[in-house]
Amino acid sequence: MPDQNQRPFPPHRRRRRRRRINPNFIIFCMAVLLAVVLLVLSVMALVMSLSGDDEKPKATDATIQTTEPTDGTAEPAIPTTEPSASTTEPSAPPVAPTDPTQTTEPSASTTAPTTAPSEPIAPGITLIGNATIGATGDILMHKPCIRPGEQSDGTYDFSAYFAHIQAYINATDYAVANLETTLAGLDLGYEYSGYPQFNCPDGIVPSLQGAGFDMLLTANNHTYDTSSVGFHRTMQVMKEYGMDFTGTFASREEDNYLVREIDGIRIGMICYTYEDAADAATVAPNGHVMTKEDAQLINTFHKKDVAGFRTSLSADIANMEADGAEAIVLFIHWGDEYALTQNADQEALAQTACDLGVDVIVGGHAHVIQPMDLLTSTTDSDHKTVCLYSTGNAISNQRQGLISSITTAHTEDGILFSFTFAKYSDGTVRVESVEALPTWVNLYTSTETWKKVYDIIPLDKSTADWKTAFGLTDDTLSQAEASYDRTMAIIGDGLAEVNAYLASLPEV
Ligand SMILES: [Zn+2]
Repeated sequence: MPDQNQRPFPPHRRRRRRRRINPNFIIFCMAVLLAVVLLVLSVMALVMSLSGDDEKPKATDATIQTTEPTDGTAEPAIPTTEPSASTTEPSAPPVAPTDPTQTTEPSASTTAPTTAPSEPIAPGITLIGNATIGATGDILMHKPCIRPGEQSDGTYDFSAYFAHIQAYINATDYAVANLETTLAGLDLGYEYSGYPQFNCPDGIVPSLQGAGFDMLLTANNHTYDTSSVGFHRTMQVMKEYGMDFTGTFASREEDNYLVREIDGIRIGMICYTYEDAADAATVAPNGHVMTKEDAQLINTFHKKDVAGFRTSLSADIANMEADGAEAIVLFIHWGDEYALTQNADQEALAQTACDLGVDVIVGGHAHVIQPMDLLTSTTDSDHKTVCLYSTGNAISNQRQGLISSITTAHTEDGILFSFTFAKYSDGTVRVESVEALPTWVNLYTSTETWKKVYDIIPLDKSTADWKTAFGLTDDTLSQAEASYDRTMAIIGDGLAEVNAYLASLPEV
């Protein structure tokens, strides 16, 4: 029985053979037996292979269980190089779907952070984070810029203005714009208005938010255009939408700056504006005298009072550093309107900020682009500050041909200025790359809505065909090209100087 159990087939066959003991067939049976043996052998071989297959599923089950962990660890382990490659790729796509043309610009900023962590920069030191901040020029909401945003239900939507630069905004880690208007609403005695007393519908905030902006600058010469009412309501609206803002603050209990952790780097950001008070005891943006209480809720300086600016900014930087800031960005509203170069006051203030340790200065207010410069601290020759004196107008109605005082098209130009901070495992945080994307506002009438569209065009040279990409005519294409040339003529040298310096930085 045990034998039979072990070998079920042969016994059966033996039994049959015993009953038919027939000498004539012995040889034949032997042959058959041989054949059977061969058959059995081949069956066994087959079984072996089958059992191999059987094991496979079990093994796979096992391997699935064991490999999953191992794969999980093995994959990262083997591809320490690959992960960075595979993560670099994903960083490009977010840009590509919306506007494939910008892979160069945006991906440059998003690629670096993911690539770096696995790659040693110097023995024992690795790059542990990159943070790209983008900043555009003035959002100068003139009345003609407001009207087209009105929707049938009475709300306002300005999203269309940002459609073409949205992908570039989103490619930065944190994007900033200067909100050169107040949001006083309609219920407190004001109506929507442009120059000289700006009051824009609240819809500008979600429109900017939808375009990818994270923070709006609220300290400028138009901050008090709608008095204390608009001053406070602007901040209230911003808070309701969850939009960061800096430059003004709702109470003295709030910080007069922001420190945000962006990709592992804590960046301190502060915004200042000049003001026009006749005496030191008063604060009056554009001549609108602020209440004593409100005057303490905005960062201002007197153009000629560099010492006062130094004292104030020095304390701010100390506070930001106490809050963990590892890099400092100063947004500043200054300079002469329509002047294509910075003035002596701007230079003095910029040098002061550099001496205090500011890493990047982003200027606004001139409504035209002003040069970029690389400053060296007078107290620490190793410290440099990248300064863009004016980002120009991101959006405005200041157009050649529409306003008699506007004699050139420089006011139609802006820059999306982006700069990337890198942080290393030894604690070093520094600016490592800078990009300046020229923008130009294409003003046209939509054939769908018959409304005007202030279309901010990214003048990206890697976009093969601006005409097709942005729906330009021959005339507007040549205007866009002229805008690019104007901007590069102003910032080209400074940008090259900054880039040469950044390229020369020693490896950490
Ligand atoms: Zn201004």
